[in-house]
Amino acid sequence: MEVNIPPTHPRYQSLLIREKLIKGFEEGYVAKAGLIAHGRGECFDYLIGETTIEPALKAIEAAVAALLLSNNPVISVNGNVAALVPEEVVKLAELVNAKIEVNLFYRSEERVMKIAEVLRACGAREVLGVSDATAEIPELMSERRRVSPRGILIADTVLVPLEDGDRTEALRRLGKTVIAIDLNPLSRTARAASITIVDNVVRAMPKMIEYAQKLSNASREELSSILREYDNNAILSEVLKHIRNRLEELSKSNLLIQC
Ligand code: ATP
Ligand code: MG
Repeated sequence: MEVNIPPTHPRYQSLLIREKLIKGFEEGYVAKAGLIAHGRGECFDYLIGETTIEPALKAIEAAVAALLLSNNPVISVNGNVAALVPEEVVKLAELVNAKIEVNLFYRSEERVMKIAEVLRACGAREVLGVSDATAEIPELMSERRRVSPRGILIADTVLVPLEDGDRTEALRRLGKTVIAIDLNPLSRTARAASITIVDNVVRAMPKMIEYAQKLSNASREELSSILREYDNNAILSEVLKHIRNRLEELSKSNLLIQC
């Protein structure tokens, strides 16, 4: 179903994003639960102010440094990610030399194949996790345990935009560096990841591309020093303080109508 949203609508961008997810759902690769997850994300985006905040930028820089330093980085893709940022996934993977792997909570071969098609249409040369999801991540009960032996199984760093807490914890237990993009700073994913980018995936991915270009000539020593100085707990606490301060400011009389 095509919906014409007037560009003058005050929530134009946000409505466009919703339409992309609905289209992905109608085309059979976004899960019902993915639509609900998006609603949770939007709620936190309101609280953050629908902008990339300073602690997210620091996390993005560290995340890109980690990806560039890795031997086997992988970008894990689910239905929402394929609907919202497929081109950015392909571009970032190229820049940091990462593999792309489809990994779904509600796995069906049809959904996996459709997501791979979306990524290939955006220029992905290889998409793992389609017919080669033959290995298993231990202790994980959902279909997400099925991974590619050439991808997530052997990855040292996994970028998991919009991830589930269980899987983030399982990947961490395997000793992997897990980078999450999650608007909810309180989710188990956000708290279990090694690097948590609290931002909308539609803003975070283009910024990651920008940083990957910027850091492409940085030495390993420079990249390592960015990582050494990074403290995920401090970042999460800065995010919570940002939300608290913002709400405090907004709650002061007439500022509310401007938000
Ligand atoms: P937990 O990590 O505790 O399992 P959850 O069950 O809410 O949390 P999932 O449903 O598995 O997590 O994953 C969805 C997560 O993605 C939510 O935390 C939601 O806030 C976040 N999210 C949804 N849409 C976006 C988006 N566009 N950008 C960034 N994060 C998003
Ligand atoms: Mg969950």
